[in-house]
Amino acid sequence: MKAVVIGAGISGVTTAYFLSQNNIDVTLIESRRYPAMATSYANGGQLSASNAEAWNSWHNVKTGLKSFFSNSHSSVIMSPFPSISKLMWLFKFIQNIKNSETITYDICKMAVNSIKLYDNIAKKESLDFDKLDKGIIHLYMDKKHTENAENINLIYKKAGLERFRITHEELYSLEPSLKHKKLDSIFFTPTDKTGDIHKFCRDLTNKMVKKNKVKLLNYNVENLKEFSEQFDLTVVCAGVYSPFLAKTVGDSLNIYPVKGYSITINNPGNNTPHVSLLDDFKKIVTSRLGNDRLRVAGFAEFNGYNLDIIQSRIRPLIKWCTEMFPKINTNDIKPWAGLRPMTPNMLPIVKKSNNNPKVWYNTGHGHLGWTLSAYTAREIAIKILKD
Ligand SMILES: Cc1cc2nc3c(=O)[nH]c(=O)nc-3n(C[C@H](O)[C@H](O)[C@H](O)COP(=O)(O)OP(=O)(O)OC[C@H]3O[C@@H](n4cnc5c(N)ncnc54)[C@H](O)[C@@H]3O)c2cc1C
Repeated sequence: MKAVVIGAGISGVTTAYFLSQNNIDVTLIESRRYPAMATSYANGGQLSASNAEAWNSWHNVKTGLKSFFSNSHSSVIMSPFPSISKLMWLFKFIQNIKNSETITYDICKMAVNSIKLYDNIAKKESLDFDKLDKGIIHLYMDKKHTENAENINLIYKKAGLERFRITHEELYSLEPSLKHKKLDSIFFTPTDKTGDIHKFCRDLTNKMVKKNKVKLLNYNVENLKEFSEQFDLTVVCAGVYSPFLAKTVGDSLNIYPVKGYSITINNPGNNTPHVSLLDDFKKIVTSRLGNDRLRVAGFAEFNGYNLDIIQSRIRPLIKWCTEMFPKINTNDIKPWAGLRPMTPNMLPIVKKSNNNPKVWYNTGHGHLGWTLSAYTAREIAIKILKD
């Protein structure tokens, strides 16, 4: 069987991997010069089942609406310019608020399995991507958020994830750079991990190409029908651009580009975190990538396909770092912005086309694409082989 996979971000690279493991002849097509130069370039770095909580909530809707008037302190920013695609997406997002517990459960379960798959792939292929197995610490600043965290923990437990509350003393011993910080509560998930998504994609692609398991082609696909003669199947993994390709075979994918920002701090110094953090109030995550890089990411901005790196989003990320870790060295910072391919129910689209039996989709991984991709890639390979 000959397959073409469109897009060499994390969803496409892992799809190519699982298809090629099942003796399918794979061509991986990427419009950019190298793999993982779009959203899978400089994300938060967390492989985090503990961040599976659905975004579908009235609290997030209200935060987004408030940002029309002032967005300087908001973690969710909604541009006031309406578009049909944004309104349709928001309508479905709100409809799914009632399903948020089920969504959280489903995402958490997928994430737990996916992280195990990453361990296997990393070991089998000897991948170098600054993987760190130190768990993730969640910081909660007030009673309301702590109560919510306790409730979410019950769902996580059912889905097979152990996240537990720790004391301030335990926090200081796990992460000495947070010594003296007073929080309302702290939760720890030892099985969560971190790693550099870009390095992972590049290393795995290079290894698959070197072993002749996958061919890599630099080409911009305009129509999915281009491949119907040469290939038995096409898998679309084009992130936020997937809906445009789907349209060429009459499919409609409800994916909105939700922009996020990151900074990579080179040589941040010793009094900075080595264990990955999630500040639940500010929605900021950190990951240590190797000894000398600290990645800090946040923000959910609804502003179409705009990829400008806006300084008024970068500054709060730097401010957060200097407030949390006053001795941090911020001399050398690389800012970045990327678009999360978000579905309104947070769940990735892993299915066959409604209109063309040769076309499949593995896309729409949203805020957890790094975490979930290994799982959905294996799922799509299983579905294709069963078909
Ligand atoms: C600020 C930020 C922080 C994040 N933090 C985390 C985190 O900590 N943990 C986590 O799990 N997730 C995180 N995410 C989400 C995660 O990064 C994304 O879900 C994931 O990278 C999406 O991968 P993808 O393969 O679907 O898309 P992409 O990485 O965008 O890959 C799609 C590829 O398809 C190519 N392409 C598109 N159209 C065509 C075409 N027509 N022809 C050929 N090629 C094409 C593109 O060039 C691109 O390389 C974060 C995202 C952001 C923005």
